[in-house]
Order: sequence, then C-alpha cells, then structure tokens
Amino acid sequence: MASHKPILPPAMLGILGGGQLGRMFTVAAKTMGYRVTVLDPDGNAPAAEFADVHLRAAYNDHAALKELAETCAAITTEFENVNADSMRWLAQHVPVSPSGDCLAIAQDRIQEKAWIRKAGLATAPYLALETVEDLNHDLAPYLPGILKTARLGYDGKGQVRVATAVEARAAYADLGGQPCVLEKMLPLACEVSAIVTRSNPHEVAVFPVAENRHAKGILDVSIVPAQVDAALAAQAQQMARQLAEALDYIGVLAVEFFVLDGGELVINEIAPRPHNSGHYTIDACVTSQYEQQVRAMCGLHPGRTDLLSPVVMVNLLGDVWQDDGGEPNWAVLMQAPNAHLHLYGKREARPGRKMGHYCVLADTAAGALEQAEALKDTLGT
Ligand code: ATP
Ligand code: MG
Repeated sequence: MASHKPILPPAMLGILGGGQLGRMFTVAAKTMGYRVTVLDPDGNAPAAEFADVHLRAAYNDHAALKELAETCAAITTEFENVNADSMRWLAQHVPVSPSGDCLAIAQDRIQEKAWIRKAGLATAPYLALETVEDLNHDLAPYLPGILKTARLGYDGKGQVRVATAVEARAAYADLGGQPCVLEKMLPLACEVSAIVTRSNPHEVAVFPVAENRHAKGILDVSIVPAQVDAALAAQAQQMARQLAEALDYIGVLAVEFFVLDGGELVINEIAPRPHNSGHYTIDACVTSQYEQQVRAMCGLHPGRTDLLSPVVMVNLLGDVWQDDGGEPNWAVLMQAPNAHLHLYGKREARPGRKMGHYCVLADTAAGALEQAEALKDTLGT
C-alpha cells in the first residue's frame, strides 16, 4: 500500500473520528481542495462542521465502512482507539494509513513498548502484566512506579502511582484486573516530542522537537524550539525516524520522550496520528501536521517542516470556562497581533476537556512563553 498513484484534489478523503484532530485535518484537506467524509457517532463531532459528509455511525458499523470504502480515495484516522479491524477491512478496498497493524500496536502499551525495544530504542524499565500471575514477579526493579492500563488510557487516565508491591497489587485489582504495565517512575529533566511523517520508505520528514509541560497529567504547554541541546533534539528526531522505519509506518506518527536528568532520551509512548504537541505547526511551520497527514495518505511527498518562528502553544481546557459554561474573556488574546486562537466548537465545557488552544509567536521561545502565560491570566478576568 506504501506507494500508490498520488491522489489529487478534489478527491474524497475519509477519516475515522471527528474530534479536534479530525477537525484540523478536515480544515487542512478542504483548504487543499479535497473533500472529506468523517465517520463519527457523535452528532456534534467537531469535524462535522467542516466535512462534506458526516457518517454518524459506530467505528465498526459495516454499512458505514462500506460507504467509506466506496466513496473515498484514501482513509485515515484521528485516534488510536478505532477498531484496528475496521482499518484492516477498509485496506482491502482503498489505501489506508496508518495501517491497522500499526494502530493495533499503538493501542496497546504492552505491544507498543515491545516494538520500541525491538527497534533498538529505550523505554522506561517496565513489566508487562498480562494476567494476575505476572504480579508474582519481583516488582522491586519497577518501584516506585506507575501502573498503566495497557489499553484505552489517555490524558493520564487509567494510571495509578504506586510505591510498594502491596500498592501495585491493590492498584491492579482496582483497575479491574485488566492487562497493565508497571513502569518505573523516572526522574525527568523535561519531556519532548517529535512528529514524523512518512509517505513511503524514501519520503520522511520530521518536525522540530517540542518541549512539553503537563498539568494534572494533561499537556498544558508546548514550547518550540524545545529548550534542550541541539544534539538531543536531533537525537529525538532520529529516534522517531527509526521507529517509523521499524514499524514500516505510513502517515503521521508522534513520539513522546522523557529526557532524564542525565540527558538520556527514553521513549514514553507513541500516537499513530497528529498530536496535541504538534498543533503549533499550523501557525509556525511551512507545512502543518494535518497537511502532512493529507499528503501521506494521498501518496504525496511530505511538505517542508521548517519552523518559521519560535512559538508556544497553550491548551485551553474546559476549566478555563466559567462555572455556568460562559466563555472565557477572549478580548485581550484576540487583540494580540502575534497570537492565534483555535477553538474546537465543542458545545459543553467540562473540566479537563480539550476545548481549544492558542499559539503565540515571538522572536524567542522564552518571550513567547512569557507572553503566552500573561495572556492566559487575562482569560478569567
Ligand atoms: P497522554 O494521552 O496525555 O499522552 P497518557 O494517559 O497516555 O497521556 P502517559 O503519556 O503515559 O499517559 O503519561 C502522562 C504523563 O505522566 C507523562 O507525560 C509524564 O509527565 C508522566 N509520566 C508517565 N510515566 C512516567 C514515568 N515512568 N516516569 C515519570 N513520569 C511519568
Ligand atoms: Mg502521553
């Protein structure tokens, strides 16, 4: 499937999932002249506002998948928890990226970590807990640690910090006895991510590395260029390429890293899609991560990834909305000539829900960060 004839506008492109990532994909594809069909069961899916067609059905609904296969020239997805078998079925009829196999790997922390190691890359020390018997292993090398469910975790959900073997066993039971990984808690200097686009084995491009700061387990701020050694940033980019290669990945792949106190890079996890830490590419790069997704699925060369300006991206969670659901005060942010607001059109603001983001572009990353933080303070006033 890696090399098919380039798909050109105004072809119809399909995407499984219509959240904010699907929305920004749809805007990019529509801007380029493609048409878009979104499959998402939610009638208010953020992407539906811009899509030509919204198939409101489950991700394994056979009639909807058949319609996608019949009407779309290529298909992608915006999140890893769609049924990998849906993607495998679609792939028999139409070019699909990423592949169902790559999705299946990214869906499961146990497989994901095994693949990272197989690619010759480092992960945190971890123990796969497939069944309750695996808790009989010596857990000491992984403590203090974090117990993470193997499947369906995001934004820090499905994770419990554990200090002792007794706590680890109790947490495993609390999580319902499902497959988990026990991962050693590492001393982090910071966290970075690298997003790679691979259209085929010869066409690979990596975006500048972002430095990511989290609050309550959710990405809060991305700073680009990352405030790390140039050599370390280059190494992260190289590791992302190496992993995409090992997976024979087609599409956009995000790789999250821990930078350890000693300067060592360890892969935390991957996302088989554009990533929250790559939103900055819309405002600050020659090509956005969403345009890259279009390009990769259409068999086009990835676009150039040059950073046009230092930039800071700030996530806007529902917490910033007023208690009665009223809008934040956008007035100051909207008047800043170097800030760009992106709202996802979600109707209900809930704590922790990703409602939008903004980017601030400035001469230096430090300057952008300072201004971005000052702007955040104006939203509650
Ligand atoms: P998301 O979907 O937001 O990326 P997630 O639920 O998949 O989150 P992880 O990326 O595994 O969760 O972990 C969330 C955050 O918790 C990490 O970005 C990091 O700050 C912290 N964390 C996770 N694992 C470790 C670890 N082994 N050592 C130190 N910190 C960790
Ligand atoms: Mg993560």
